[in-house]
Amino acid sequence: MTLPWRPPGHCIRWARGVCCETGWILETQPMNRITLDSDKQVMRVGAGATWREIIPVLHARGYAPKVMQSNHDFTIGGSLSVNCHGWHTNSPPTASTVQSLRLLTADSTVVTGSRTAQPVRE
Ligand SMILES: Cc1cc2nc3c(=O)[nH]c(=O)nc-3n(C[C@H](O)[C@H](O)[C@H](O)COP(=O)(O)OP(=O)(O)OC[C@H]3O[C@@H](n4cnc5c(N)ncnc54)[C@H](O)[C@@H]3O)c2cc1C
Repeated sequence: MTLPWRPPGHCIRWARGVCCETGWILETQPMNRITLDSDKQVMRVGAGATWREIIPVLHARGYAPKVMQSNHDFTIGGSLSVNCHGWHTNSPPTASTVQSLRLLTADSTVVTGSRTAQPVRE
C-alpha cells in the first residue's frame, strides 16, 4: 500500500484535503520524542518535534540550541530538510549541528548515517 505522508509545518498546511481526500495519511508531528545526553551535550529528537518543544527540555538543564531556526514553531524534520539558518552570527546553518541521522526512505528502508560513518541500511 502506498502511504502518503503530510509534514506538519508551514509549507505544507494546504496539503490536507488536497493530496489525500480519502484513505490513510501519515502525520509526522506525533514523532516528537526528545532525549538529552547532558554529558555529551547531544539531543536525540524525533523529526516531528518543534523547536518550541525542544527549548524547555534544554532550558531545564541550563542549555540552549547551538543553532536553530529563527522561529520556534518549525519541526526538526522541516528545519533540517531545508538546512535552515537562524540569527546566529558566524554560525553555519542547522545541519552543522547534526551528529547523525536515521531516515526512512521512500522504499521503506531505514538508513542511519553520521559524520564519521557511511550510511548503513538497518
Ligand atoms: C514565518 C517564517 C519564517 C521563516 N524564517 C526562516 C529563517 O529565519 N531561516 C530559515 O532558514 N528559514 C526560515 N523559514 C523557512 C523555514 O525554515 C522552512 O520553511 C522550514 O522547512 C519550515 O519547517 P516546517 O516544520 O514548517 O516544514 P514543512 O513546511 O512541514 O516542510 C518543509 C519541507 O521539509 C520536508 N519535511 C518536513 N518534515 C520532514 C521529515 N520528517 N522528513 C523529511 N522531510 C521532511 C517537507 O516535505 C517539505 O519539503 C521561515 C518560514 C516562515 C513561514
